[in-house]
Amino acid sequence: MSQALREFLLKKAKLEKLFKWGVRWSLWPVHLVTSCCGVEVAHTSGPGFDAERWGVLPFHTMRQSNVILVEGTITKKMAKVLKMVYEQMPEPKYVIAMGACAVRGGLFWNSYHVVQVDTVVPVDVYIAGCPPTPEAVIRAFIMLHNKIKGQPGPYVEPTKVDLTPYLPPPPKPQPKPMAQQAG
Ligand code: SF4
Repeated sequence: MSQALREFLLKKAKLEKLFKWGVRWSLWPVHLVTSCCGVEVAHTSGPGFDAERWGVLPFHTMRQSNVILVEGTITKKMAKVLKMVYEQMPEPKYVIAMGACAVRGGLFWNSYHVVQVDTVVPVDVYIAGCPPTPEAVIRAFIMLHNKIKGQPGPYVEPTKVDLTPYLPPPPKPQPKPMAQQAG
């Protein structure tokens, strides 16, 4: 759909409400299973929890998806892939950061190689937990529903906690061994 036609339908034909209703019930996440949180997403889509009742239908191609569900750690190398996937998705698009690792680094909070998702792409909803339960994942999609509707919700952005004072001091540099003299 061209941008002009889209704007006409949304503004002039006053179809915005209908459009948002359609988006809310068609949240098709592309899975970025970068770590162990992904196991709980399989559970979320299984018969026990059946997230499809909320319009959540997992997809495997980003060009037909409108949500990225980041399921775990994002390393510096993977951050490039995350950005590329995000840029290829059509508008409107949303990002959910799932689990402590995606939100603030989790176990790897001071790793040399793990980055927080919101430093790479904008995050719409954060899910706490290690791993978050299927109920928490479904709640995140309901929060996204409310956000699309324009309703205020508990979109709490996690605070960054500095744990450096609780770490052992870094090792002191050792003097270099003297070069052996040629005998
Ligand atoms: S939050 Fe926990 S379960 Fe999820 S990726 Fe990190 S270590 Fe794994």
